[in-house]
Amino acid sequence: MRKYVIIGVPGSGKSTQATTLAVDLDLVHISVGDIFRWQVQNHTKMGAQVRRIMAAGELVGDDLAEKVAADRLAEHDWNYGFVVDGFPRNARQAEFFLESYDIDGVIHLDMPDSEVRRRVLARRLCANCGVDYNLIQSRPATEGVCDVCGGNLITREDDTEEALVVRLREYHDKTDPVLDLFRRKEYVAVIDATASKEEIQQEIRDKLGLPPYKP
Ligand SMILES: [Zn+2]
Repeated sequence: MRKYVIIGVPGSGKSTQATTLAVDLDLVHISVGDIFRWQVQNHTKMGAQVRRIMAAGELVGDDLAEKVAADRLAEHDWNYGFVVDGFPRNARQAEFFLESYDIDGVIHLDMPDSEVRRRVLARRLCANCGVDYNLIQSRPATEGVCDVCGGNLITREDDTEEALVVRLREYHDKTDPVLDLFRRKEYVAVIDATASKEEIQQEIRDKLGLPPYKP
């Protein structure tokens, strides 16, 4: 049984890495964010609650995240283990989680704020068909023009320098105490999240003593 937590700033490739790990090693990827999105899309009672919170411009509370993670883990369909993403949200939850589930390791996808900024500010979106671009990794053939439909490329409303400062501060306020606690218990594998997708996955495998990654 392999039980992991994955932590990383939005844009660090957390979801991709967790999915690769889960598919390859028969683990269950438990993403609190995905569960919330599913609830909203399927118009459940919880989905309505989440929608109200987000409409008010607030973050979904730690207690609701805890309930979602606990309910999902209680399904016990993870015969070979799990990778949890989006939980725990604070030091109390982290402590309880470590004791209850006998976690094998915490994967910290480490990316400096300056690199997050560089990547996020390079994001573009086609105003017409919605295809995503990135001026660093996936440039359009003609500047400002969508390769697929010829539409105009725009910046997302919340991909501004100001919004990013707020997002990064919220991320650190929430995550740093959790990482500190995990670090004190010596669980954390720090992974350089600026490397390529394949290199990141390989480094996770090496540091956790898992079978090598064969893409
Ligand atoms: Zn387009």
